[in-house]
Amino acid sequence: MIHLHVLGYLVFWVLFAAALGLFAWRLVFLIRLLCLGRAETENRFDKPACRLAEAIFAFVTQKTNLRHLTLSDPAPLGHAFMLWGLGIYLIGYVVFIGFGAGFGLFPVVEGNDFERVFFSVLDVVGLFILAAMIFVVLKRYVLKPQRLQREETTSEKIIQPLLIVTIMLLVVLHYLIEGLGYAAAGLSGEAAGSVSGWPPVGAALAEAFRDSGASSGALERAGRSLWWFNYVVLLGALVYTPRSKHLHPLFIVPNLAFRHRGRKGALRPVNLQDAQTIRRAEIRDFTWKQLLDSYACTWCGRCHVRCPAQSSGKPLSPRELILGTKEHLLKVGPSLMHGKAAQRAKGAEGAHPLGPAFLGAVIGEEAVWSCTTCLACQEVCPAANEQMRTILDLRRHLQMITTTEVGRETVKNLRTRGHPWRGTMYARTDWAEGLGIKILGEDGPAEVLYWVGCTQALEDRNLKVAQAL
Ligand code: SF4
Ligand code: SF4
Repeated sequence: MIHLHVLGYLVFWVLFAAALGLFAWRLVFLIRLLCLGRAETENRFDKPACRLAEAIFAFVTQKTNLRHLTLSDPAPLGHAFMLWGLGIYLIGYVVFIGFGAGFGLFPVVEGNDFERVFFSVLDVVGLFILAAMIFVVLKRYVLKPQRLQREETTSEKIIQPLLIVTIMLLVVLHYLIEGLGYAAAGLSGEAAGSVSGWPPVGAALAEAFRDSGASSGALERAGRSLWWFNYVVLLGALVYTPRSKHLHPLFIVPNLAFRHRGRKGALRPVNLQDAQTIRRAEIRDFTWKQLLDSYACTWCGRCHVRCPAQSSGKPLSPRELILGTKEHLLKVGPSLMHGKAAQRAKGAEGAHPLGPAFLGAVIGEEAVWSCTTCLACQEVCPAANEQMRTILDLRRHLQMITTTEVGRETVKNLRTRGHPWRGTMYARTDWAEGLGIKILGEDGPAEVLYWVGCTQALEDRNLKVAQAL
């Protein structure tokens, strides 16, 4: 019998190594896609230990997520329970896979107090995971808050429920395997782990299985089949996760670690002499960190609902910009990667041919100009994404590289009139007429300086604002 167990253990490790290999293969591919991006203009590698510690702390404590917890929106708590629960299950898988638990080869983790305590923890944690997943189902498919509403592709429509079912299935399989194992052990006269009523779910199920009248052998065979099924699901999830649209479990910690540590909203410095650093025509013009942002998005939709441009009916959604960037990268990235490799193989030097356009495919010009630069999107983002800075980079591109109609008009007006408003009937100081306001430079020094910009001084609708202030 022992040789069958050893054979099973070996088969399991071959499957595990294959799944891990496929996981790593895809992970390397995703990282190579990030490498298509240009170098960062700021140092993202300073204080590496500090960055990493902060990122891990934020991830484990769910700090960036839980700060959004309110009575009307308990979703962050559900997400935290799910993550902590899955983390404990993951530790369980590592411990039990490492020792080959299930094959009876390592008594150090099987059929003893360690197993009972650990399974008891998994039982209780599993209940929290199931409760969190039921909440996710309610939230996503019944309550449907505005931030989670979006046009989804067919694959996105499939992945969400698939993910939920997989997580719930893993917990349920744990309970069933445990119950069947204890029931079989009890019936065959071996030490039954459920004697004391712990682990609670396993013990209750063992009781039910024992009462079902099934033989010890049948219970053991059922338990072993489910054990294999459990690991097929788990290894399948390992292979599938980096191939799915949900990449944030893999990339949120690196994204938090590489976050911008300076003043929020500070503009990226550019070299005006080097148009290449300003260009954002295609995906390779973005920095690797801007591409990483797209992998780290949790789809929470907080930036979408907090964006004033979006709320006022403009075509801008910071969430769609980030998710669209990922879609675009996954779509055009592989051929760009092959093109780059072919170019290198030929020994060709110089600029690469332009890839598919980013503007128009991911975000429209009107959306780019709709941003009020309020920074709300970056403030609320649990993944520390930098949506506004990316939008401003796109604006710079439009203004300084492609010079759109709006840009051309503005620059022309600034040059010829000293302000951007064509067709205005007002002079700079018309708004102050009759208010008894001194003009600096004409009426001597003043205690308070009220600087009225072009828009308030020259644009019809804004004159009253300047006067009211
Ligand atoms: S900075 Fe721009 S994109 Fe972000 S929330 Fe404000 S208006 Fe929306
Ligand atoms: S970019 Fe950030 S705030 Fe917006 S949906 Fe993604 S994770 Fe949420």
